[in-house]
Amino acid sequence: MGTIKTERAFNILMATNRRHYTKTNPYQDWPQNIGYRSRISAAHLHAYSLDALNDKLIEGATVLDVGSGSGYLTSCFARMVGPAGRVIGIEHIPELVEQSIANINSDDPTLLTGGRIQFFVSDGRLGYPAAAPYDVIYVGASTVEVPKTLLSQLKPGGRMVLPVGKYGDIQYYEQLDKQEDGTVVIKKMMRVQFIPLTDEAAQMQRITWSLKLSHHHWHQGFRTRDFFFVRHRPSPPHYASRARLVT
Ligand code: SAH
Repeated sequence: MGTIKTERAFNILMATNRRHYTKTNPYQDWPQNIGYRSRISAAHLHAYSLDALNDKLIEGATVLDVGSGSGYLTSCFARMVGPAGRVIGIEHIPELVEQSIANINSDDPTLLTGGRIQFFVSDGRLGYPAAAPYDVIYVGASTVEVPKTLLSQLKPGGRMVLPVGKYGDIQYYEQLDKQEDGTVVIKKMMRVQFIPLTDEAAQMQRITWSLKLSHHHWHQGFRTRDFFFVRHRPSPPHYASRARLVT
């Protein structure tokens, strides 16, 4: 579905093997579940995102990847900005951050050394002010409104790409270019379907809810990893107290 517009995005996608980032169907152009109600986006979506951000993902650029999930795009961004660049990945599920670090280590551990990629377990809606402003902000989960806090962390001349719209409803990828005078030019792009940018408890509630739907399977002895996750995991303390750097 679709074509890759820039040679650079093509080369980066070819250099970043999806088999390191998902255990299931790495070469199917379809999102794959990676646990904790998260998923790695489809390959065409990754291609589209890299094309849209290509001009801004120059050597030495600073990038914020909100809802970094599998870490696939985090790695692509790091490859594009090179050793002088910096990519901050924010993900609110600690297990996913650990998983993404393992994924990148299996792909190319040097992307993590020297601090080119840094992951933080925290609420991505708050961004990561300490490394702001950013040349690029990418959000891998949908919001009804563009989070103002994130926009304030974008550099003049910088670009943000994110899915806008209600979960389960019509969503569009939007590209926001912050001009030198601080005004923002918005471009509505293709229709997409993303999981919501939400809080951890709400993401876990979606797990419980979907398990109610699979009541029938439960009685047949069908158990998912997510179920154990919900049952045995203590409720999360407040974000502010648990934002932490993971290396
Ligand atoms: N670009 C990623 C997309 C992962 S799906 C990839 O292709 O692998 C979106 C991710 O956003 C999920 O992992 C989910 O846990 C995370 N997420 C949702 N709300 C969040 C929030 N408020 N803060 C940080 N991460 C969030």
